[in-house]
Amino acid sequence: SVKPPYIGRFAPSPTGPLHMGSLVAAMASYLDARAHDGIWLVRMEDVDFDRNVEGADQAILQSLYRCGMDIDADVQWQSQRQHLYEAAFEALGKNIYACSCSRKEIADSRTGIQGPSALIYPGTCRQGLAPGKQARAYRLRVPEPSQAVIRFHDRWYGDMQQDLSSEVGDFVLKRADGFWAYQLAVVVDDAAQGITHVVRGADLLDSTARQIYLQDLLGVPTPAYLHVPVVNNANGEKLSKQTGAIAFDDGSSGQDLLKKALLPAAQFLGLHISADSIEEFWKAAIPAWKEMLEKRQAV
Ligand code: GLU
Repeated sequence: SVKPPYIGRFAPSPTGPLHMGSLVAAMASYLDARAHDGIWLVRMEDVDFDRNVEGADQAILQSLYRCGMDIDADVQWQSQRQHLYEAAFEALGKNIYACSCSRKEIADSRTGIQGPSALIYPGTCRQGLAPGKQARAYRLRVPEPSQAVIRFHDRWYGDMQQDLSSEVGDFVLKRADGFWAYQLAVVVDDAAQGITHVVRGADLLDSTARQIYLQDLLGVPTPAYLHVPVVNNANGEKLSKQTGAIAFDDGSSGQDLLKKALLPAAQFLGLHISADSIEEFWKAAIPAWKEMLEKRQAV
């Protein structure tokens, strides 16, 4: 029988070397692609020039290679694809407006409002910039409250929904200094690369509704989503360079990588694997992942 196509991806931001948290996301997307006889791509999300660290992209690719994770096509760099984001931005036309508000102005306009909605942009510039004001950013208008609920199924977390109007607000797609927002770049690239399955960390669950809304506006398909739990540090913060995550790949042996990185990452994903080499590891991990999906009914 002919299998439906599967194209997955790992999309790291090159802000530092791989650490346990990013390895778990890479491993989950790789295992899911292999378990579906699919294609696995890697895309460097290097549009935030303030956060890029020189050489981090090559260090990440080197670690993936050393961990035995083969990439099925040329790696793409978002910094080379800005013309695509520009075209999508143009296509969104009247859904976008210029905004001059600073963080402080947004915070001040919300004084007295408590809780998460205090951070939501109140729509001050929706009717146009006040005279003499300059654009700081370009925002996407989200629908009115009753029409703004986005529902989707996550293969791991189940049925999710988010009200873009009350939980997110009009969000930024581009900064006036030319930086593209992650939300736009990721949607454009997932579509352009024909991604059918997104597997990534649960810190991005909260971004998924925004991405689905953008996909609808741009008339591109919505991929299947699977978010895996994120690895926290001892303080319960998501493991990242900012919270002190350490790189696991110090260039030592494959055995070391297996013990220090691959086996613990698999364990974190709920896969119990014994293996004496990296090759054996993947041989055992792919069927273990399949079995886990079947148990969770997340195939
Ligand atoms: N570049 C994003 C990150 O590293 C992930 C994007 C994605 O998988 O959608 O957090």
